Amino acid sequence: MATPAARIVTCPSCGGRSVYAPENPYRPFCCERCKNADLGAWATESYRVPARPTTADDREEPTQ
Ligand SMILES: [Zn+2]
Repeated sequence: MATPAARIVTCPSCGGRSVYAPENPYRPFCCERCKNADLGAWATESYRVPARPTTADDREEPTQ
């Protein structure tokens, strides 16, 4: 209701409502906390890009 350009979107982090407008520097997130949380998760995730799972697949067991 503040600016005509304001839109309400879903915050990708918490799923809550977020104001997508220049007045919200954390858009599309609803707040700084959500933005940081999402970036943190992303960084963590990209750190462990699975090269190859070294589990059951690695040991070639005979089919019996
Ligand atoms: Zn949020």
